[in-house]
This record gives sequence, structure tokens and C-alpha cells, in this order.
Amino acid sequence: MDRYAVIGNPIAHSKSPLIHRMFAEQTGQALTYEALLAPLDDFAGTLRGFLADGHGVNVTVPFKEQAWALVDSHSAAAERAGAVNTILRQADGSLLGDNTDGRGLVRDLQTNAGIKLRGARILLLGAGGASRGVIQPLLAARPSQLCVVNRTVDKAEQLATLFNDLGPISAAGLHWLEESVDLIVNATSASLGGEVPAISPKLIRPGHTVCYDMMYASEPTAFNRWASEHGAARCVDGLGMLVEQAAEAFELWRGVRPETAPVFAALRRN
Ligand code: NDP
Repeated sequence: MDRYAVIGNPIAHSKSPLIHRMFAEQTGQALTYEALLAPLDDFAGTLRGFLADGHGVNVTVPFKEQAWALVDSHSAAAERAGAVNTILRQADGSLLGDNTDGRGLVRDLQTNAGIKLRGARILLLGAGGASRGVIQPLLAARPSQLCVVNRTVDKAEQLATLFNDLGPISAAGLHWLEESVDLIVNATSASLGGEVPAISPKLIRPGHTVCYDMMYASEPTAFNRWASEHGAARCVDGLGMLVEQAAEAFELWRGVRPETAPVFAALRRN
């Protein structure tokens, strides 16, 4: 049977094995998918060991940038993002790195949540690995403005410069903006610690602004609770993005597109 895995540290919490097993069952694909904990100082060893006979790998925190440097070639999405979350071992043994996070986010926003991105004013909070991976697909959806807002402003400015030729992108610090936007995407890791980035609540126009937290949990995240308290029209968490980015990876590996809705519903029930 073809073997796949997700590699990260920590990894015990990962829902990826469950998601890919559901995809495999649904599409009749014979494969195994496991979660592998890589030592923080030896991601490369874990990756090489698995791919000696494994067919593909998902990469998660904190190894996506290292994965980018270790593969032989990149998809267009991964090339500029500088981060890889999906690796395919090709027939000749070479490793292709892709980044499916952005396509997963945009699909979840547009298809599942029905949020219009074209012409929207979007604020992207955070300038880490997750943010890098989603900028190109967000700009491809033709917003009127995409502002990367980060605690460390330099990092937001670097991203705005890097993606500047792809669309209307700018950078700002957490306290700089007060005018409301259509969509706020939280790509910081603040929710992991129950914190909310220190942005102005005026960025939310009550009853209009949609807020999306890439983090997901069984309860509303700290950011989505904050957004709801300040009148956000809707608050969405990142579970749909997780399932959609996994579907993109599955399609790359197996050439079959799984249905995401039943998998999403099953995870929500868990
Ligand atoms: P990184 O560690 O690379 O980046 C973290 C970012 O969060 C930085 O911009 C950092 O700012 C900012 N940050 C952290 N704490 C705070 C705080 N208290 N206030 C303001 N800003 C803060 O993480 P990733 O980019 O890899 O991941 C970010 C989140 O996205 C995680 O929660 C992850 O689980 C989620 N994610 C979800 C996915 C999904 O499928 N749903 C896919 C990928 C990621 P600074 O630069 O100033 O340190």
C-alpha cells in the first residue's frame, strides 16, 4: 500500500491522519497515512527516512520553511511562499514541494463560507509561515486591498514587498489602522495562547465585517469571541481550511478530488 504521513512537532493533536483516511475510504484509494513526530533538530532525517519508500508527506509547524529548502522543485504556489506543506515523491524519485494552505483558505472562504473576495478590503493579521502561504491566492482573488498587519512591522513590510507585483498589497503595525474592512483573516498564532492581537475594534463594521481565524477548536477561538463581541457579521474558524488544504494535497498525490463537505461535517461532530 502507498504510504503517506504528516510530519511536525508537536504532532499528536493532528487531524490530518483522520482526514486522509476518510478521503481514502470515500474515493476507494488504498493507502496508509500516519503522524510522525520529527525531532526539532532533525526534520531532514525524518523526512528522508519516510520518503525512502513513502509516496508523499504533509509538513506542519514548525518545518514548512525547512521543507521548502529540502525539496528538488517547487510548484508556483510554493516557490514564492518560501514554505512547503505538501511533498510528492515523483516517479524519478525527486521531491516536488507544493503549498496548499492558500488554495485551501480561498476555497473555504469562497465556496464553503460564501464570502466574496473580489473587490473586498482584506486585512491579514500575522506575517509568519501561514500568512506567507496565503497571500498569493488571496491576491489572485482580486481584492481591492490586502493589508498585512503584524506585531513586528518589518516582517509585514517584507511580505508586502515580496508580493508587490501580484496585486494591491500593503503593510501596517497592529495599532496603525482604524478604518473598517470587509474581511479580517487572523493568521497569527495568538489564539493558541488564548490571546487576541492588539488591533482596534474599529476595524470591524458591526453587522458587515466577516472575521476568519485560521485556528480551530471545539469552542470559538479567542479571536472569534472578540470579533463577535464587537459586532462581526460572521465568525468562521480554520477547520474548513484544514480540510480543503488536505483535499488539495490528496488530489496532487492521487489524482482524485475528494468531497470535503462530509469530512468537514464528521470532524465538527467529533
Ligand atoms: P508562525 O509562528 O510562523 O507566525 C506566528 C505569527 O503570529 C507571527 O506573525 C507573530 O507575530 C504572530 N503572533 C503570535 N502571537 C501574537 C500575539 N500575541 N499578538 C499578535 N501577533 C502574534 O505561525 P504560522 O504562521 O505557521 O501559524 C499561524 C496560525 O495559523 C497557527 O495558529 C496555525 O495553527 C494556523 N494555521 C492553520 C491552518 C489551517 O489549515 N487551518 C494552516 C496553517 C496555519 P511576530 O512576527 O511579531 O512574532
